[in-house]
Amino acid sequence: MSGSGLEVPDPAGGAPRLDAHAVTARARAAAGPDGQPALPRVAHWPIFPFATEGLRVKALEDPVLPEPPRRDEDVSACTVCARPDDTFVWSGERWRISMPPLPGSLPTLVLHPRDHVDFADLTEEQGGEMGVLLVRMERALSSIEGVGRVHVYKWGDGGAHLHVLAVARPLGMMQLRGMFLSTWMDVLPPLPAEEWAALRSHLAAHLAAGPAGHGVR
Ligand SMILES: [Zn+2]
Repeated sequence: MSGSGLEVPDPAGGAPRLDAHAVTARARAAAGPDGQPALPRVAHWPIFPFATEGLRVKALEDPVLPEPPRRDEDVSACTVCARPDDTFVWSGERWRISMPPLPGSLPTLVLHPRDHVDFADLTEEQGGEMGVLLVRMERALSSIEGVGRVHVYKWGDGGAHLHVLAVARPLGMMQLRGMFLSTWMDVLPPLPAEEWAALRSHLAAHLAAGPAGHGVR
């Protein structure tokens, strides 16, 4: 029995493998003699943020193996671990929730465990707590008037200390639906500083209220 409590069967024929070199080689072969990959179907979806005229897909770079370290890999120098509680919107015994310090374009909350761990390092209990807190974050953001939907993102390619984002989409901005909301976040200008501060106060109060008597801290 593994630490997660899940048995992983060992299939006949060996363990499956995702081979970056093979994926890259197949993509290059599919691109044709000019090496230019065609625009994907998503480029023609209504939510695609860019005009397609003149748009080209970048050529695939060679895989980098081993991958370079991410930001904050070293626990002794981790900038998230070192942040004092008063820079967070909400802090408990095992988890903390932040907002970007400088105004962003859309209301955003970020969940961090106090422990210097990544997603797959979480115990079953910590995984359950994370679920409870992500629901609270969605509810807090949804309580802002004019929020149409809240997205939850876990990428982890940039920073090693686990962080899960919850981002609010403005009601009625149908172009911002789906996967490109995170791109639009960088296209739209920052909210005015006073609006950002008011959002922070609102979200802090909402998270501080929390569900009465719940055990997640
Ligand atoms: Zn850390």
